[in-house]
Amino acid sequence: MYLADYHTHTHYSFDGAPHATIDAMCLAAIDRGLSELAITDHMDIFHLQKYSYILDCKHLYPELARAKEYYAGKLKIAIGAELGQPMANPAAAQQFLADQPELDFVIGSVHQMENDLDVYYYNFRRHDPAKVYDHYLDYLTDYAAHYDYDVIGHITYPLRYMAEAGYAISIDPFLEKIENLYRIIIGRDKGIELNVSGFRQSMQTTMPTPKLLKLYGDCGGKILTFGSDAHRPEDVGTFLKAGQDIAYECGFRSFTTFEKRVPTFHKI
Ligand SMILES: [Zn+2]
Ligand SMILES: [Zn+2]
Repeated sequence: MYLADYHTHTHYSFDGAPHATIDAMCLAAIDRGLSELAITDHMDIFHLQKYSYILDCKHLYPELARAKEYYAGKLKIAIGAELGQPMANPAAAQQFLADQPELDFVIGSVHQMENDLDVYYYNFRRHDPAKVYDHYLDYLTDYAAHYDYDVIGHITYPLRYMAEAGYAISIDPFLEKIENLYRIIIGRDKGIELNVSGFRQSMQTTMPTPKLLKLYGDCGGKILTFGSDAHRPEDVGTFLKAGQDIAYECGFRSFTTFEKRVPTFHKI
């Protein structure tokens, strides 16, 4: 079984654990029998900041290039980034991508909407959960249609924090918007990720949910990555097999890895 964790963070990310060094993450991946690891530290784009404000690219990317060489034969490493909301400052996002030609893989995520505020900080007593998700889908659709990425990340991200605050919304009113989002992604030969971090949290499901993953397949979606969204070595590779099982049940027979932004397919 080919196992590839395609969403992980090191201590270079603002929310990465201090002990999540690149070596610690790679050794954990080898320990869990992974064939491949994508390190996708946060590059969140802010309205009025240069991209270097959030991530020490000068040290991270050379260190990743060295690790890629050092672990070759034991663990394949994809040099990645989780590029958050480029629409906040398109020039900064474009500059970031131009300055990192060694990138193998880019997750396109939305964490922050208005005022650079991460959905993580939303108070759902004041923000109507259904309206927040509707708005979030507009952001994802804009991202999917107009910006550069390989897969769109955790498309049900706000539902994670709603679950933690005790709110559950019905997904049914959003199915049309989600289908439209999928069609845009598929039309550009891009993909989505199945983020399995929810199994470590209150939501106890994948992002997107199996129902929405099946809808992606029904729309003709083929490009699919799996990610633990680990922020510490202990979580690297966790629930990847569960993710593969869910994808299989939803009709997928392959998943994707990337090298220099070009997809490769592996049997599930
Ligand atoms: Zn994320
Ligand atoms: Zn992440």
